[in-house]
Amino acid sequence: MLIVMSNHASKEELDNVMAAIEAHGWQAKPIPGGERTAIGILRNTGPVDPAIFLGMPGVRDAIPVSKPYKLVSREMKKENTLIPLGNGSVVIGGDKLILAAGPCAVESERQAIEIARAVQKAGAVLFRAGAFKPRTSPYAFQGLGEKGLQILAHVREETGLFVVSEATDHEVCDLVEEYADIIQIGTRNMQNYRLLKRAGQARKPVLLKRGMSATIDEFFMAAEYIMSEGNDQVILCERGIRTFATHSRNTLDLNAVPYIQKESHLPVFIDPSHAAGRRDQVIPLARAGAAVGAAGLLIEVHSCPEKAMSDGPQSLLPADFERLVAELRYMNFKI
Ligand code: PEP
Ligand code: MN
Repeated sequence: MLIVMSNHASKEELDNVMAAIEAHGWQAKPIPGGERTAIGILRNTGPVDPAIFLGMPGVRDAIPVSKPYKLVSREMKKENTLIPLGNGSVVIGGDKLILAAGPCAVESERQAIEIARAVQKAGAVLFRAGAFKPRTSPYAFQGLGEKGLQILAHVREETGLFVVSEATDHEVCDLVEEYADIIQIGTRNMQNYRLLKRAGQARKPVLLKRGMSATIDEFFMAAEYIMSEGNDQVILCERGIRTFATHSRNTLDLNAVPYIQKESHLPVFIDPSHAAGRRDQVIPLARAGAAVGAAGLLIEVHSCPEKAMSDGPQSLLPADFERLVAELRYMNFKI
């Protein structure tokens, strides 16, 4: 249920409504909005009777929220969520197409700085690279761990790029929160509820990837876990889903973008790299992602893909990335 206050409701009237919600054992969540003050009711197990609130001074309306996800939904918050980074020099969800680029994994200081400088020159504002890698094989490179995060902090110092890196479990989330500007939660962890709750307590934005076999409603419920713990700064990322197709590693669900934008106020990114799994499809899918209205693109770039410790076959060369950005600029995207 969403309680909409009248424009001239006083602070006292607002407080009274919050107290009435809490007196029922529910949680009251004020929803900031441009044109109205609203309060969401959370943690109710059954339906809420609107009559409880409709007679209260300052209340204009009590609207039932029909979806299982609440904080994520546009029913609760009409305006698009904007996520400013640092002092607001980069705003995710605003009018610019955000480019996040970098290698799958941090491999060394030299590798990270070299790629960071190249993607920054081309137009990226975020540097992506994993320090903790969730690998299919336990024998594959697992990431540099904390050392990798220290390298990312150094990349930020050297270049001014914001950094995004994955927290693969609850235990390492503290470290990732400490070093990175954005905490990534990967496809394999989209339903790791303990990790989602921990990310919800973080003071950094979270980039949540869609589970490889998750419906959009399950994706929204995962984001709801993060938001219900108090973190409103969530970026959704479509990275391809498992289908019967064998001509690509995954199938990029472009339909997800307009559907998410209709149902939710959260910004949505497209990751063409993990969707394709092969370099030759990454640039066309990136263009499609921008064209369908994504707020940002997450792209793997490596200066020597054949020697990459992970995801080399899908990594663009810096020159390819530069060409993609030139194409996007030609298509009139603000970068
Ligand atoms: C990644 O971004 O490198 C990654 C592991 O992504 P995903 O979780 O989408 O597979
Ligand atoms: Mn990868």
